[in-house]
Amino acid sequence: MARIAVGGFSHETNTFARKPTDFAEFAAEGIRSGAEILAFRGTKTPAGGFVDAIEANPGLEPVLLMTSNAIPGGVVTADAVHRLTTPILEGIEREKPDAVVLVLHGAMVTEESDDGEGTLLAQVRAIIGPDVPLLATLDPHANCTELMVASADALFPFDTYPHIDGYERAFEVVALLGRMLAGEAKPTAALARLPLISATVVEYTGAGLAKEIMERAFAFEHEAGVINVGVNWGFAYADTPITGMTFVVTTDNDPERARAIADDMAAWTWERRGRFVPSAMPVDEAIKAAMTEPLGPVVLADVADNPGGGTPCDGTAILWGLLDLGATDAAIGSIADPEVVEIAFNAGIGKEISCELGGKTDDLHGYPIPIVAEVANLTEGHFVYEGPMRTGHTGWLGRAAVLHVLGRHGNVVEVLVTERRFQTFDAAVLRSQGIEPLDKKIVVVKSSVHFRGAFGPLATRIIEVDTPGLLAIDLTRFDFKRLTRPIWPLDAEMRD
Ligand SMILES: [Zn+2]
Repeated sequence: MARIAVGGFSHETNTFARKPTDFAEFAAEGIRSGAEILAFRGTKTPAGGFVDAIEANPGLEPVLLMTSNAIPGGVVTADAVHRLTTPILEGIEREKPDAVVLVLHGAMVTEESDDGEGTLLAQVRAIIGPDVPLLATLDPHANCTELMVASADALFPFDTYPHIDGYERAFEVVALLGRMLAGEAKPTAALARLPLISATVVEYTGAGLAKEIMERAFAFEHEAGVINVGVNWGFAYADTPITGMTFVVTTDNDPERARAIADDMAAWTWERRGRFVPSAMPVDEAIKAAMTEPLGPVVLADVADNPGGGTPCDGTAILWGLLDLGATDAAIGSIADPEVVEIAFNAGIGKEISCELGGKTDDLHGYPIPIVAEVANLTEGHFVYEGPMRTGHTGWLGRAAVLHVLGRHGNVVEVLVTERRFQTFDAAVLRSQGIEPLDKKIVVVKSSVHFRGAFGPLATRIIEVDTPGLLAIDLTRFDFKRLTRPIWPLDAEMRD
């Protein structure tokens, strides 16, 4: 019986976000220790995939260490890193497993390292030595590095954005592991890097260039001896020298082929980089377009205030527009504002409140909006994901209030206000709070692409809205200081 250590430590770091990501942020989202990791069984998550795949293989036995994850945000504190990686490192040292699998993101920046995952993988490798297999899943927003590739035997980024295949990738990792332990496979990997950063909206793998890139990767994966062709879009909003798009290719004992495919994928993508230019509609135009659609729900994506990319989730640009332009049957899910949640809880359901909503974290996401609203619902904010992403996993918004906010034309806009920042990419977020998206004309989500998984099939139309914020699609708005230059699309010499 081979003993497989299972751990995880995930964060996508937006270095432009002011608030550091501390231990409490991980604790709020979920730290699971030892047997608690079994709670992922059956959930469509990479950790669920690891547990289910190991338990489905009679030759394997899990050694459960620790998994943790936090909502994307500012740089991860050294204290959080040490408290969340020490149980993994000490567990591996103590248990001496036959292999290690990790759930990683790939774009974690810590107070001590631009390459949080590379650092962790190198620490694990130093403990287990060169011969014990070490494999990991990555989020394709990874800013992948040579250190990560050199430290791990194989890295499996998700193939999809929205990320709906983490479970399947984890199964692939365990299948490869089984072959490695049987002496039937010897993975070798190569990394190719492009001097390119992109806005998340163009990385949607359901259409356009991103879809074509993935199809090319899948074609290579059908070749004999090719284990995995991973595409990492990178995470542009991390201002580090390692930020950018990469391809990580794993073959069975054929390093030259891995190198050739990685270089081919990079060159093919580079030739087409002009198609990565994003577009989105101005706020007022988007709202007017939604209001004139005959049928809803029209989904407006507040792409620049997507907390899934580390933003405050309290941007008010679309709220202001809906109130001002007289939109009806509109719902916003969500705005994070713990002060307003407290006011709503103190007032109670059915009561009227007057306060300022949103725009309180910084001056990049609109202003606090003075509102008069009726408290329509109050909950503790727990829900279960309907999918297709994280299906079956539990989520927590913090305490939550649904407000019916009065617009200036007597119109009412329904706003879900939460204590925690939360990317609404699952309809269960709204339904659990008594908001049925199918009954709405306009549904606003603070999400760039993930919402397409659940809301794509529901929506009569999707409009990406060019809101202000820390995930703005125009990368030239950001004051990058540490990127490796030149880089597309910021530097003129990279544009032709
Ligand atoms: Zn991602």
